[in-house]
Amino acid sequence: MSEFLPPRNETQFAENFTQIKPLMNDTEAYYESSRCLFCYDAPCVNACPTGIDIPLFIRQINADNVMGAAKTIFDSNYFGHACGKVCPTEVLCEGSCVYNHSDVKPIEIGRLQSYATDRAIQAEKYFYSPAPSNGKKVAVIGAGPAGIACACELRLHGYEVDVFDSKAMPSGLTMYGVAPYKITNEDVLDEMAYLEKQFGYRLFHNTTIAAKEDIDQLQRNYDAIFLGIGLGSTSALGIPGEDLKGVYGAVEFIEELKVHHHFVNVPDKVIVLGGGNTAMDAASESARMGASSVILAYRRSKAEMGAYDFEYDLAKNVGIKGLFNVSPIEILMRDSSAVSGVKFIRTRTVDGKVENIPGSEFVVDCDLVIKATGQSKQTSFLEKIGGIQTNSNGTIRVNESFQTTNKKYFAAGDAVSGGQEVVNAVADGKKAAHGIINMLS
Ligand code: SF4
Repeated sequence: MSEFLPPRNETQFAENFTQIKPLMNDTEAYYESSRCLFCYDAPCVNACPTGIDIPLFIRQINADNVMGAAKTIFDSNYFGHACGKVCPTEVLCEGSCVYNHSDVKPIEIGRLQSYATDRAIQAEKYFYSPAPSNGKKVAVIGAGPAGIACACELRLHGYEVDVFDSKAMPSGLTMYGVAPYKITNEDVLDEMAYLEKQFGYRLFHNTTIAAKEDIDQLQRNYDAIFLGIGLGSTSALGIPGEDLKGVYGAVEFIEELKVHHHFVNVPDKVIVLGGGNTAMDAASESARMGASSVILAYRRSKAEMGAYDFEYDLAKNVGIKGLFNVSPIEILMRDSSAVSGVKFIRTRTVDGKVENIPGSEFVVDCDLVIKATGQSKQTSFLEKIGGIQTNSNGTIRVNESFQTTNKKYFAAGDAVSGGQEVVNAVADGKKAAHGIINMLS
């Protein structure tokens, strides 16, 4: 049973989605930074995909040099503030902190990181400015973490950069795909404005690059093109009833919630299909929107779920129930063509493959089904560009410089990785910028 009532206004929405990593105050940051051992060859640094000098920035906080700490963070990671909040620190930096070996709570690196960067953002303390123009132009398609990181790095080296994004607001999944209890929209947009002001790339919102003519125009006008296009919409399951009213893709559901907050109406009984981190987010969010029963149904065992343990714990803590070794075979409907339940069949895993158990069908009632069973790839868009090869799973094939098989195009982020963390996209977007710089110089 969910502990949350449906939020009816913005205040109630904020209460239901209280930040799980709230900002530290000065005293908390001082005491937490005092605990750090400032390790030599620190394992926390090695665990960070962007290689932030964590002991250095913690030492700077402790010495009351908070702006210096913020610069240390941004020097390695342009999304320093967002990453402090949305990174799975439990399995990255904090998971590697030496304190774990002594059963002592690891340093709260993520919260310290957000503390320092928030102070710099709110104080409008700017550390960077673009180099004088070198006359070369790069187009970035997609204003997500990979695209923006790539744009910042290129501007630092004197490239003119235009960023095109189909959405109204920048930051990609950080804005539209991360659960509201991890980061608020205001936090995301403050950091985006802070970066845009310093680096001066041109951002074209609500600008979809999809038609062949758009692509041809970019190819004529720019020296290189970076693809930070992410993944497509939720993949189809291929079962009857999938098109009924009340069946949503998880990505679409989370985006709807991020944009419309308490105006989204989540019914009483929800079934979320999937076992990854997106499924956990969708399930947690449904409960926080007041659904009294949220069932997470996964076709393999609990141990085989792709989600991090702490994400599953977060979901369980708000009342989500797990249903394992079940596969949906049909989504059922009421007279009004709305969803009334899901027919499942029990499964078992044999030699790593999931098998249905004949005769084990059963029905679970619900009013809403959320499919968190993977996202499609942007294959048709890539075909329009031409010359860009993909891997067998549909991700874009790149070399070590993040250059695609069409030499004018570079790519990073989820369209290349298939779906990783914000911090991975930031790290790879920056590396791709250096690939572009090497090619153009
Ligand atoms: Fe500090 Fe832990 Fe990193 Fe050591 S591993 S430097 S104690 S945060």
